[in-house]
Amino acid sequence: MHHHTRRDFLRNTAVGSSLVCSLAAGWTDLLRAQDTRGATAPPRFDLLVKGGRVVDPSQALSGERDVAIAGGKIARLAANIPETEARQTLQARGKIVTPGLIDIHTHVYDGVAPLGIPADPTCIAKGVTTVVDAGSAGAHTFPGLRKYVINVVDTRVYALLNISVVGQSTLSPDNSHGELLDLRYVNPKLAVRTIEQNRDVILGVKIRLSRHITGENDLAALRLAREAADAVRLPLMVHIGGSYSPLRDILALLKKGDVITHSFRGQPGGILDDQGRVLPEVRAAVAGGVHLDIGHGQGSFSFDTAEKALRQELLPGTISSDVHQFNVNGPVFDLATTLSKFLHLGLTLDQVIERAATNPANTFGFPKGLGTLREGAEADVAVFALAEGDFEFVDALGQKRIGHRKLNPAATVKAGKIYGSASIPVVRIGRASPRRLSHQHFG
Ligand SMILES: [Zn+2]
Repeated sequence: MHHHTRRDFLRNTAVGSSLVCSLAAGWTDLLRAQDTRGATAPPRFDLLVKGGRVVDPSQALSGERDVAIAGGKIARLAANIPETEARQTLQARGKIVTPGLIDIHTHVYDGVAPLGIPADPTCIAKGVTTVVDAGSAGAHTFPGLRKYVINVVDTRVYALLNISVVGQSTLSPDNSHGELLDLRYVNPKLAVRTIEQNRDVILGVKIRLSRHITGENDLAALRLAREAADAVRLPLMVHIGGSYSPLRDILALLKKGDVITHSFRGQPGGILDDQGRVLPEVRAAVAGGVHLDIGHGQGSFSFDTAEKALRQELLPGTISSDVHQFNVNGPVFDLATTLSKFLHLGLTLDQVIERAATNPANTFGFPKGLGTLREGAEADVAVFALAEGDFEFVDALGQKRIGHRKLNPAATVKAGKIYGSASIPVVRIGRASPRRLSHQHFG
């Protein structure tokens, strides 16, 4: 009865009914906040992402919540936060709201590695706030990646250092000669020095093990990469597929915390045997703490392999795009499209977001507070429309599937700032009408 009296009191004092709904959880705090906020006091939040379905597997959350941001951090995650408490509101009703996505396999060394793309139009403009450039740069070319990309673009860029000093600068469709054909370009000491000088942004060592990249050198190069990674106590990311040596010999050199990328590629050199069964060595590696990453790429994701692996209950730990110059216009496009392919394959929305936000944040030594919407975390938020219909998805082998749900990026917030092509209205206090943002930070 006492409770009802309070509710009536609040209704009569013209506090919004939405506030009343959330009173059960700590109404006194809210009331105090209202009381102390004078008519001229500024709103306590910088931005409110309002009314969306929040999917945050880091806290096992899937439900309607508002996300309030202040000072570049998540300030409050709750139902029915009044719009009057925020300077601006991003209307997310009917949308999916997730932590800013983390793509752990991209190539954003635009202009130096032939496969590099500009980071921002494909990443931060499409819900991906943090990426790992997976080995575009080696020790000789890393200073440029730092100076001209990491320090400059809006997307938060980390890197894995290629064990070859030249990185991925030698290989293009017109010059298909890889960076490990000559082991004189593999220099663990130089890699270690570069990593020690850039530990704030280099999270591991990358090596690509396909025959056209390594010739007969794959295991020798992998041992040198192992030596460098162990010296700096960071993980290795190993690109598999079409290797000179059998996959089992490669897996034998991996350790807990290492990452296999291109896990669901087609044969040869993939995770399945001739009968389509998951190799026992792959199961053993996963049991030993090796992570399976997708890294869709231009040639490294097969619906057929994925369907067989998932039927045998082998799920990837992380879903990444390997987006680059030769797949950004299809079949990869962006991370959201890769995630949509996994929705088609039968993963739940929570499972795909877990593999593109929660798990990636734990795969490498990122700073704490990425990949989650917990209060106090970095205010990285992605908003998607989950479209329904018939969508044709194409894998790296040209195989097609028709899926019925597609995640379409609608807005991105990084450290509290709205980026990219927000396609949903942003309402600012004091403005008469909603305003559409169009490439706000891309000029
Ligand atoms: Zn790659």
